Parts: sequence; structure tokens; C-alpha cells
Amino acid sequence: MVYETTFYDILGVQPGCSSEELKKAYRKLALKYHPDKNPNEGEKFKQISMAYEVLSDPEKKAIYDEGGEAAIKKGGAGGGGGFHSPMDLFHMFFNGGFGGERKRERQAKNLIHPMTVTLEDLYNGTTRKLALQKNVICDMCDGIGGKKGAVHKCSPCRGTGVITKVQKIAPGLVQQYEERCRNCRGMGETMDEKDRCRECNGHKTVRVRKMLMIEVQRGMRDEQKIILQGEGDQEPDMKPGDIVIVLEEKPHPVFKRLGNDLIINMELTLTEALCGFQKVVKTLDGRDLLIQSNPGEVIKHNGYKCVYGEGMPYFKTPSDKGRLLIQFLVTFPESLPVETVTEIRKLLPQPPQVDLPEDPEYVEMVAVRREEHRRDDDDDDGHSGPQVRMHQCNSS
Ligand SMILES: [Zn+2]
Ligand SMILES: [Zn+2]
Repeated sequence: MVYETTFYDILGVQPGCSSEELKKAYRKLALKYHPDKNPNEGEKFKQISMAYEVLSDPEKKAIYDEGGEAAIKKGGAGGGGGFHSPMDLFHMFFNGGFGGERKRERQAKNLIHPMTVTLEDLYNGTTRKLALQKNVICDMCDGIGGKKGAVHKCSPCRGTGVITKVQKIAPGLVQQYEERCRNCRGMGETMDEKDRCRECNGHKTVRVRKMLMIEVQRGMRDEQKIILQGEGDQEPDMKPGDIVIVLEEKPHPVFKRLGNDLIINMELTLTEALCGFQKVVKTLDGRDLLIQSNPGEVIKHNGYKCVYGEGMPYFKTPSDKGRLLIQFLVTFPESLPVETVTEIRKLLPQPPQVDLPEDPEYVEMVAVRREEHRRDDDDDDGHSGPQVRMHQCNSS
């Protein structure tokens, strides 16, 4: 049983409601009666803030439930702790920081840097130097921007750095927009010119050039992020941002990467495909691998073979490696001398016999013309008509 329900009524909640219900009620009402939106409802905004501040604080709530508003006002003036201004409460609430005096740590923005690496770099690992510009807290003024006590909260924007303006765009229709405060140039505070820090010119931070060592580990991938925590921009009252390096793998002339596998094309002549071959592949760490066929083995055009353990190292366990996949491209001779054909025919497996019908039609077989061939390729992609057209639009 509570002494009075006025604060509960202001927020439109029942005594004994959950803290979630309380937050929801405050959020809705505080937005509705915010002075920017409802300049004539200042009193209402104050009441909402007061009610929420009391009911969201277990200690104050207990006092209120027992003795009502009078008890709170009596206690509040003494040791019970003062109240926040309605606007401060509003900002604390919407920055997610309400709950005691603790502010949620805000973080300065991260610096994102793409870094191009070769496949060799990703195979062997490497260390790179990265020179960059970043903001650090000014040493001279300790990030105040000037002499201690010289900084004042800007009054036109109430320290927010922005001014909300209302513009009439049609009868009965207004548009609300925010504008950078001219008085403080968006900083939210002002300072006399003479008190301004010489080093940072009142900006609180200075720009410095910094050299960082970036470790690219074996087995890292294209688009993988390397995060250097806290190495980014510094800003007063904020956790420093991170530097985020995003790897960009440069295409390799020989190897293509597919996950932990490496793929190469190997061109063979017909003779090599039929009678055996030996080829040397230079690995990404400079070793020479001898690739050879088994005696009597025939290699097929577009066929694959693989070598285990000669792919990319696994990230974090680089002693494990993927496969080296070899795709064979067999070049056939354009033609053969007729007498040779007879010789070869004797050596190759015999072709099947064809029983000719009595009266077949003799037709001429010619090479496929280039443009016809290309159209066939498009169809082979499996695109339906509209998709193909869209594709062409994009590329033009
Ligand atoms: Zn201002
Ligand atoms: Zn300074």
C-alpha cells in the first residue's frame, strides 16, 4: 500500500509496475513533452522527470511510497541527494546511461584502413608498417581545450552543439530540423579567445603521425579484419577508437585461392597427357615441387588432381595446410599428317564399329563461328533472359 499515487499517475503506471514498464512510460512521455516539441509544456516535462527519477531509484521510491512527495522533498534537500535537471535526466536516459551517476563509456570512431597483401604474404605471414594520422588528446591542456575553468557550456544550444529549428513548409505543416549551433560552432561549449590552448587551438586534440606495426598472420584471408584496440582516434571523455585493418588479397598470377586450397592451371600437350610428363611448380614460399604423372596414366582435359598439404596454411594452426589442386588443360594439335594417323590408330584402343545405314545423307561439318559460340556460352551460364539483360545494363 502506497501513501499516494501522484507520481505513478503522472507516468500512467500502476504502483508495483516493472522497471521496464516504468522506462517505457518515461520514454514515451519524455519524448512527447520535450521542450523542443512542446515548448509550452515545460511544467509537465519537469513533473515527468521528477516522477521518473524518484520511481526509478529504489531508495527514493521507498521514501515516496511511505511518505509521498512531501517526504521526498524534505529528504531531497538534505542528505537524500539532489535531483537532475529534467534535460540532464533526458540525455542520460537516452544515452543509455541512466542508473546512478555512471555514464556508459562512449567510444571514439574507429579508423578503417584497407591493406593490400599478396598471396605470398598470407602464406608466409608478414609484418607491415602503417603510417597514419590520428587525433590524440592535447598534452598541453589535458584535453580541456584551454585554461581550467575557462570552458563554459554554450547557452543557446544548452551544450548540445545543435539547435533544433522549426520551419513552416505549408499551412499547418511544419518541419523540424537540426542546425549546428553558430555560437559554439557545434562544440557545445564556449571559451574566451585568450584562454584557448595554443597547442590545439581549443580543439582538445591534436593530429599526430603514428607508425604502427601490423602483423599479418599465416593463413589470413581476403577481407579479414585485424583490430588494433584503442589505437584509433582519441577524444575527451571517450574510450579511444580502434584501428581496423581490412586485408585485401591481390590476385596472384599463378595461384587462385579457394578457402584453404590453392588452384593452378597446368597446360599439357597431348603427348604429355598421353605419355606422361614432369613439371615444376614453385610454391609461395619458394620451394620447387616436382609434379609428375604415373607410368601409363592418361591425363584428361579439364581434369583435376591434387597434392595434399601444399595448399594455404590454416589460420591459427599454420602447420596444417589445404590442398594444391591442379587443373589440366590439354592442348590438342590442330591436325596430324595422314600417315601418322594410321600409325597412331594402331597403338590406341580400337574405336567402336559404326554400321552405316544404306542411304545416309552426306553433310559438311565446319568450324563454329565465333559469335555463335559466344551466344552459346551466355546460355550456358544458366541466366534467364531478364537477368542477362540486367547484367548488361549494370556493366555498361
Ligand atoms: Zn552552442
Ligand atoms: Zn590543448
